[in-house]
Amino acid sequence: MFIVIINSKKCKGCGLCIQACPKQCISYSKQFNKIGYHWAVMIKKDACTGCSFCYMVCPDICIKIYEKAN
Ligand code: SF4
Ligand code: SF4
Repeated sequence: MFIVIINSKKCKGCGLCIQACPKQCISYSKQFNKIGYHWAVMIKKDACTGCSFCYMVCPDICIKIYEKAN
């Protein structure tokens, strides 16, 4: 299982990670963050395959991915 952590304070809501995820795991938050953007949030944690596409496309290095040991 993979854990995707998205930095909600730094994210500027560009949506690149949302478009890149082949499993539609990421969407926009309903709230705004302090810099005025709907940040990206994980909505389907169990569907994540750990492919790292979201991590690779984020221009602001907001995403970290960990593999959880069983
Ligand atoms: S690691 Fe892959 S499957 Fe998981 S959220 Fe990122 S793009 Fe989606
Ligand atoms: S690619 Fe990065 S900056 Fe853009 S929405 Fe995703 S986490 Fe936020």
